[in-house]
Amino acid sequence: MLPVASALSNESIRPTRVEVDLGQLGRNLQAIRQHVGAAKVMAVVKANAYGHGLVPVALEMVNAGADSLGVALLEEAVILREAGITAPILVFGGIAETQIPIFIRNDLTLTAPSIDKLNLIDNAAAAMGVTARVHLKIDTGMERLGIHYYSADKLLEASLKARHVQVEGIYSHFANADSADLTHAREQLSRFHEVLSFYEKRSLPLPQRHIANSGAILQLPESHLDLVRPGIMLYGVYPSRKCACTVSIQPALTWKSHVAYFKVVQPGHPVSYGSTWQSDHPVRVVTVPVGYGDGYFRALSNKGEVLIRGQRHPIAGRVCMDQIMVNLDWGTAYYRDEVVLLGKQGGAEISADDLADWAGTISYEVLTNINSRVPRVYV
Ligand SMILES: *Cc1c(COP(=O)(O)O)cnc(C)c1O
Repeated sequence: MLPVASALSNESIRPTRVEVDLGQLGRNLQAIRQHVGAAKVMAVVKANAYGHGLVPVALEMVNAGADSLGVALLEEAVILREAGITAPILVFGGIAETQIPIFIRNDLTLTAPSIDKLNLIDNAAAAMGVTARVHLKIDTGMERLGIHYYSADKLLEASLKARHVQVEGIYSHFANADSADLTHAREQLSRFHEVLSFYEKRSLPLPQRHIANSGAILQLPESHLDLVRPGIMLYGVYPSRKCACTVSIQPALTWKSHVAYFKVVQPGHPVSYGSTWQSDHPVRVVTVPVGYGDGYFRALSNKGEVLIRGQRHPIAGRVCMDQIMVNLDWGTAYYRDEVVLLGKQGGAEISADDLADWAGTISYEVLTNINSRVPRVYV
């Protein structure tokens, strides 16, 4: 949130805002919990809770019964601890050596993706006279972070010898669990099981095993294992249009603004930078105070639509940094009428997938791109 916003009351903050329905987030979590049965649920709240606001969403998730939280960065986890959240927090991302004592002091769970990192964690914990909580990360086909499944035995061996490390979990991540073709996802799951047989062969107790993101929660029930890691689904958005909708969820976020200015634009008078759009007849055009400086993609220029009075209307001309113009044609709108950029109005809806399709990206980027200049209001 911008520092200046604290000087303004809720009524006087800018009309461009994101409203988040916390109750709906809780219902989405419940729907996932019911679907996965006995598996624990780690609520993924990285990237400002997919744009919904890190701390308020994390608090809601914990209250709604999430067993743990997942974030990408140490910074995100520390903010949650400073907000008083005591639930287990796993940090997915890679770690720098200098960060390890901060992880340990804040009682955060570290990801160990290699023997080197595991040893660094073990040494740091030994020096502090404590035991560090760790989840081992296995790469089964994403080629991102983690030891390759075909060399993983060495990391598991090393973890048995690390005296100041408690291996609470072992995990992997799918590259294609949201697609229609699940061949690669099934291959990854079977590679993960191969790695896990290490414990069975030695009659050792298994750490918590997890691999399922939203796509796998929806499409691969056999991958739920001991714990699932939903991200985008918590926010009521399916991971892709190709994914089976086996759990009923609803979006919790509405991005709205209002009509700031109204005019009639004559033919031969192009609108906005670059003069890329003009009408062949007089049209009513309204100006709305949102732009790419808020994270409303410039790629939506002459492509995107907004809702005014329950009707879809197209963006006219280029998206500016702070404003857009909307062509009403001969429709009606008045100063201060609500404009919905993302979400429902009347019977109409613009989804994160609509915005993503127009801008040539995915819903994840639409949501995480709404930046801190847009105040979040919780309802
Ligand atoms: C982001 C992330 C998730 C959540 O993915 P969704 O597709 O949003 O459900 C799960 N696990 C890891 C390791 C992640 O980085």
